[in-house]
Amino acid sequence: MTPTGCFIGGEWRDTDRRFPVTDPATGQTLAEVADAGPADALAALDAAVAAQDAWAATPPRERAAVLRRAHDGLVSRGEEFALLITREMGKPLAESRAEVGYAADFLQWFAEESVRISGEYRVSPGGDFRIVTARQPVGPCLLVSPWNFPLAMITRKVGPALAAGCTALLKPAEDTPLSCLLLVQVLADAGVPAGVVNALPTSRPAPLVERLLADPRLRKLSFTGSTEVGRLLLAQASGNVLRTSMELGGNAPFLVFADADLNAAVDGAVLAKLRNGGQSCVAANRFLVEEPVAEEFAGRLAERMKRVRLGPGTDPASELGPLINARQRRRVAGLVDDAVAHGARVLAGGHAEGPFYPATVLTGVPAEARIHQEEIFGPVAPVTPFAGEDAALALANATPYGLVVYLYTGSLARALRVSERLEAGMVGVNRGLVSNAAAPFGGIKQSGLGREGGFEGIGEYVSTKYLALDTA
Ligand code: NAD
Repeated sequence: MTPTGCFIGGEWRDTDRRFPVTDPATGQTLAEVADAGPADALAALDAAVAAQDAWAATPPRERAAVLRRAHDGLVSRGEEFALLITREMGKPLAESRAEVGYAADFLQWFAEESVRISGEYRVSPGGDFRIVTARQPVGPCLLVSPWNFPLAMITRKVGPALAAGCTALLKPAEDTPLSCLLLVQVLADAGVPAGVVNALPTSRPAPLVERLLADPRLRKLSFTGSTEVGRLLLAQASGNVLRTSMELGGNAPFLVFADADLNAAVDGAVLAKLRNGGQSCVAANRFLVEEPVAEEFAGRLAERMKRVRLGPGTDPASELGPLINARQRRRVAGLVDDAVAHGARVLAGGHAEGPFYPATVLTGVPAEARIHQEEIFGPVAPVTPFAGEDAALALANATPYGLVVYLYTGSLARALRVSERLEAGMVGVNRGLVSNAAAPFGGIKQSGLGREGGFEGIGEYVSTKYLALDTA
């Protein structure tokens, strides 16, 4: 039932070559998918450009109705999507179901937002003319997404793009193109006109994306992925001074002060660490715990992590699925081995089991260990003690990333004081989960540019036009 072609101008098309999509739990090939190249990308851009004016002129209420029908279609096929996400990405089915709900929320939220795009009327300071502003769709957008949330990272982009009146080219990650292709079918079934949404699965993203970024008809790039690739695409996008939104990597600190409710902090830590198997940009990366409670926190976290059941995502008993691929398994194991070589102690987990990596807790990790500097993208929790608020802030901010910080404290005054000094786009106060379609998701520093979701999300897909109206 899942399409495997390119979707261009409202039609599924095949390509000369195909590439395999594999189940990370079994290594089994799930499908052979069309492998789009630069020529297919240009055909998709032709289609998007041809459809742009009519879609921008479609009344907002009609665009909203299409998105609402797509939301309903996604929800009604929720089990099919959940199984597909689990098969191509690996996460347990319960988490895939949660991702389907999260993905659908963006379609609903932006359906609701599409009728609220508005401008302003101002009187010039001299009183001699009027300033009227309008928000207009930026035009054809390239939306490049990662494998870790193969459905939600796409609706978070295509929802606001369509709501704003933009046409879109979707470029899913090569590990997980199937959820994207099924979503495109749901969008088409919901009445998205031909050319308004196009999909370009490819195993060779670099030449395809570079070709599109060089074409002046493309007006916007929204990218979610690693900081390394984001930096490269920003450089390429500079040629045409393209509008860009960048959701990049993170190195989230999880701060626990001694006045926190420790049970709640451990619950939040398990969620912030193990959601998506730790393969999330907002996964807690460094657990910084105030000295009097650090040992107890690490012990309790290790007890919880030891009980987490590893297994294929399709088994309802599994709580932690496989890592996405062999490269990621080597990376996580390498970070743990490096920490241990630097003197870290393993309280739970610590050794790969086939395609799986167990929930792992480390203590005594020195500052110079790579695991403190780099995004882990796996279920490993290094716990480090700190003494006092200033030390906590210095440690938390000592990273080029600035996406999210989790903060556990029993004091509202401290929560506000510390939040204001944290270098991050988002702060979870006594919460291990911040993601929500109604919230502005995004980072500062090398974690990115722009926001997705919330009222802010649609702003990434419109530009302001100002009219000067003479009243003299
Ligand atoms: P990645 O950067 O390797 O790939 C992301 C996307 O870019 C994929 O679609 C890939 O095909 C494409 N790509 C890769 N190399 C390219 C190139 N040279 N030219 C053009 N396109 C290219 O990232 P990933 O491994 O898929 O995802 C993990 C990363 O994504 C992590 O760093 C994570 O933090 C980040 N992420 C960030 C957010 C956020 O909202 N901030 C959300 C999810 C994931």
